[in-house]
Amino acid sequence: MLRYLRRLADKDLALDRTMIPLGSCTMKLNATTEMIPVTWPDFANIHPHAPLEDVAGYLQLIDELERDLCEITGYDAVSLQPNAGSQGEFAGLLAIRAYHRSRGDLQRTVCLIPSSAHGTNAASAVMAGMEVVVVSCDTHGNVDLADLTSKCEKVGDRLAALMITYPSTHGVFEAAVGEICDVVHRHGGQVYVDGANLNALVGLAKPGHFGADVSHLNLHKTFCIPHGGGGPGVGPVAVRAHLAPFLPGDPLATQPSAVGAASAVGAASAVGAVSASRFGSAGILPISWTYIRLMGGDGLRRATQQAIANANYVSRRLAGHFPTLYSGNESLVAHECILDLREITRSTGVTVDDVAKRLMDYGFHAPTMSFPVGGTLMVEPTESESLAELDRFCDAMIAIRAEIARVESGEWTADDSPLRHAPHTVEDTVGEWQRPYDRQLALFPLPHLRSRGYFPPVSRIDAAHGDRNLVCSCEPLEALATARYG
Ligand SMILES: *Cc1c(COP(=O)(O)O)cnc(C)c1O
Repeated sequence: MLRYLRRLADKDLALDRTMIPLGSCTMKLNATTEMIPVTWPDFANIHPHAPLEDVAGYLQLIDELERDLCEITGYDAVSLQPNAGSQGEFAGLLAIRAYHRSRGDLQRTVCLIPSSAHGTNAASAVMAGMEVVVVSCDTHGNVDLADLTSKCEKVGDRLAALMITYPSTHGVFEAAVGEICDVVHRHGGQVYVDGANLNALVGLAKPGHFGADVSHLNLHKTFCIPHGGGGPGVGPVAVRAHLAPFLPGDPLATQPSAVGAASAVGAASAVGAVSASRFGSAGILPISWTYIRLMGGDGLRRATQQAIANANYVSRRLAGHFPTLYSGNESLVAHECILDLREITRSTGVTVDDVAKRLMDYGFHAPTMSFPVGGTLMVEPTESESLAELDRFCDAMIAIRAEIARVESGEWTADDSPLRHAPHTVEDTVGEWQRPYDRQLALFPLPHLRSRGYFPPVSRIDAAHGDRNLVCSCEPLEALATARYG
């Protein structure tokens, strides 16, 4: 089993090997210390529905974590029940709807969402029974205040909420965020701040104080729960006091709770539950608890500052090679930057896919591709990366830009360039070679890569074709039956 797991790990370009600069995803290098308690039977072997008297330790950990998250965000109450950021959005929007209903505002069902938003925002709004109206962004990637005001006026007393992301998915601190919140409140709406980018805020600013009513956080981004390859996650929903009675309730509760007590253990709530157990993915909460305790308040603030500094360092070092699409005050970005490749693609045919695949030859996981803007790469280094690793990444990107220049000058066609043939596998070290570039460049484009130790297990596949043509690779059931009993 150990050797099998090792073999799988060897195929993986994971955080224990290199940075994963996936913008919007906050891929931190988690401390092993944070992970160990998850394996302790005292945490691992508790049933989600165990009687409360058996889980005093868990309840203490949950209580302390909830308090820490309230302190960090400036909100009054938090529920750890949602199992993902998107589920936190859903729970937050249910709270907003229930709040409006409780005041007799049954018609408040319209949710304004800027065009820059993460796709989950609109999906959650629709699931919560709301109608989505899109607000446009200006050329700097900020919410267009004039359009917001006019949409608020048009929607009138049907306005339920605005969902915005701060800092935005464009990687900038939206300077007008306070004003944006005011406009929505003046029209009777609630402000939902998508808190998935909290890694740019912790210790510096609190959404609960700058005008938001509710946010979800992603413990599997900002608070260190590893999330490569999927779940489990925790997407707590945090609210100001007036929304606290509408937090998710206990799915096992039989008694409706008193008003204001929805988040109490064993209580039902006006909006019901969003997950099958009261505390969702409680088994991984020790990771975030440990992270917060190890860092302390000052450490958390320093991590935020470092994350922002790192993103700005990458943006500046690459500026002459890959321009950053959006920036705010003094051309600074938040904790991530969008590198614009559209001009390069137009003039050379080299695409974001080519650059992403070529980065694997340089030993790096790809950044986020074509989100939130098509034809761009979004880089989020996080605070985990040292200057040496940031430079290694920038050196790779600059070397790739020099390769693109050789396509530009006509030396190679895009189709027969190391970019299009990337990634190169161990198979490329042997056999015939008829490419217009040499093997040395293909496999070891920079000198330090001679000891790279990682080769992608397969070369480029046609991902879209694969998605559209599913092939089952399992043996038929009969084959197993014959082998066992035949
Ligand atoms: C990641 C993310 C989400 C969704 O979180 P999940 O846990 O993947 O459901 C929502 N909004 C933004 C801005 C995000 O980056």
